[in-house]
Amino acid sequence: MGLKKFVINLAPTPLVKLFASPYVAGDSIALATSTAKKFWEQRQVYSTIDLLGEELEDDEEVQYSAGVYERLIEALGQQEYATISLKPTQLGSHRGTEHCQKIIESIVAKAEKYNIKVTLDMEDHNFTDMTLDIFRAIHKDHPTFGTVLQSRLFRNDDDIKSLKGMNARIRLCIGIYNEPKEIALQSKSEMKKKMLEQLEVLLKEGHYAEIATHDQALIDKSINLAEKLNMKKDQYEVQMLMGVPMKPYQDQLIQNGILVRLYVPFAEKWKYATAYCKRRLTANPAMAIYIVKNILHKMTGRR
Ligand SMILES: Cc1cc2nc3c(=O)[nH]c(=O)nc-3n(C[C@H](O)[C@H](O)[C@H](O)COP(=O)(O)OP(=O)(O)OC[C@H]3O[C@@H](n4cnc5c(N)ncnc54)[C@H](O)[C@@H]3O)c2cc1C
Repeated sequence: MGLKKFVINLAPTPLVKLFASPYVAGDSIALATSTAKKFWEQRQVYSTIDLLGEELEDDEEVQYSAGVYERLIEALGQQEYATISLKPTQLGSHRGTEHCQKIIESIVAKAEKYNIKVTLDMEDHNFTDMTLDIFRAIHKDHPTFGTVLQSRLFRNDDDIKSLKGMNARIRLCIGIYNEPKEIALQSKSEMKKKMLEQLEVLLKEGHYAEIATHDQALIDKSINLAEKLNMKKDQYEVQMLMGVPMKPYQDQLIQNGILVRLYVPFAEKWKYATAYCKRRLTANPAMAIYIVKNILHKMTGRR
């Protein structure tokens, strides 16, 4: 474990909560849905709402999470600006693929009644096979169901090949999990080069590509590539995490007709949110300084 990860893991929950606050919509379904609505009404920014929680091994907690998703879907209702994202390890993966698939499929079926699309997030390499198996199985009957691919994994070229012909919604990212060198690229610039190559394959094969990164140069290159391939603007979108301070650039993309979607996480119980927040802070410890500066500016009334 690196030093910065070690220090962040030691941070007490209230501190993590404070520093991670820009990344999380709040502690209720109402706050999550009102955040998504506000993004849409104020800036025409789309959202994908995620209930925080992962690595659950308790059936009651899994059932609780599935229930929150059902209530979230009802609260969102028919609208055009929000999808939802969910994770296998939050929804029964501890009892095997079939069990997890059943739980996820029932959420997807409910969401479909409201025309809400669902994306299956990708976790670390221990879950890649399970995630793709569940994705393929559910996608057969629910073609708007989407998933995520990570360009850092050596296996990703083959995984893309295995989805040929599915015309699926695929979020492509470098991947947030640090993976061993035996199975994954270690250099961010190589991961990003690979991501661009894989985006080309996804677009050429007729998938709807969701370009998920905060690297402006990579987003610009991705859009140029899509334009070079004569892709229409409704064949791809750009995704970023809520809380990463890139509003002017997002607004510029929207003005140029690019669909921008933010990942909007929430938790009813804070204990489910800490793993996500610690990952965000490990990915960018400079964010803690940015947040302290913001708090000081608010206290002193200066910007
Ligand atoms: C909508 C969305 C969904 C995702 N879903 C998944 C998933 O299911 N599975 C998975 O493994 N990965 C997922 N990711 C990828 C992952 O979370 C990170 O985006 C990725 O690891 C960080 O890399 P980057 O491409 O942004 O490039 P980086 O080089 O890490 O970042 C580019 C720039 O953005 C800034 N930046 C990056 N992160 C932050 C941050 N947290 N706060 C402030 N600034 C930041 C950096 O400082 C840098 O200037 C998702 C990403 C997004 C945007």
